[in-house]
Amino acid sequence: MGEKEKTDLKDRVKKIIRLLKRAYPNAQCSLNHSNPFELLIATILSAQCTDQRVNIVTADLFRKYRKPEDYLKVSEKELQKDIRTTGFFRNKTKSIRGTAKALIGDYGGEVPDSMAELLELPGVARKTANVVLGNAFGIKAGVVVDTHVARLSHRLGLTQEKHPEKIERDLIEIVPRKDWVIFPHLMIYHGRKVCKARSPLCEECVIEKVCPSSYLKTGEMPGS
Ligand code: SF4
Repeated sequence: MGEKEKTDLKDRVKKIIRLLKRAYPNAQCSLNHSNPFELLIATILSAQCTDQRVNIVTADLFRKYRKPEDYLKVSEKELQKDIRTTGFFRNKTKSIRGTAKALIGDYGGEVPDSMAELLELPGVARKTANVVLGNAFGIKAGVVVDTHVARLSHRLGLTQEKHPEKIERDLIEIVPRKDWVIFPHLMIYHGRKVCKARSPLCEECVIEKVCPSSYLKTGEMPGS
């Protein structure tokens, strides 16, 4: 991409962010939590599951399990039962217990606040680490890429990449650093309400004018 093209893209991204901030002034992390540890657990549970379902499960879970030790006091079966409805509960149980063990063994029971350390925890990949760093610690280490962020970034022409880490690399180049945490929340809100996977509502979209995939322009329904 040439310099001029990149500058134009950065300007378009700024406009998209400005318009979406106006449309969703309360956009924020939708996983309920009251500390970094709860957000880490909620984010592990949110893999292949809706945030809504995770919040239903954590409403009880966080009353029963308050610190890493609590997840190791019960049997694996009991924890599996407590998180069953979030799906993939056997793997998630392993990740949570492994993470709890590592937090106790290596970090005095606290959640570390660096990307490198978070990535060492079992079941924690870049997306989870970015969610925790950005939303629990206010550290702008990267941009969260989930299914909504990936879909909208393609439709808006912000990346051609398919792999989340490559998409993130492209977004880091064009999204102003001060907006790295809010940007995915804006994409997620817009993706849920308007730019839906199957049938985006381009005629109601506040960023339609700056979107190259709008069916009002192309005459074709944008793909996912
Ligand atoms: S114009 Fe359509 S495809 Fe583009 S962001 Fe809006 S809803 Fe999505």
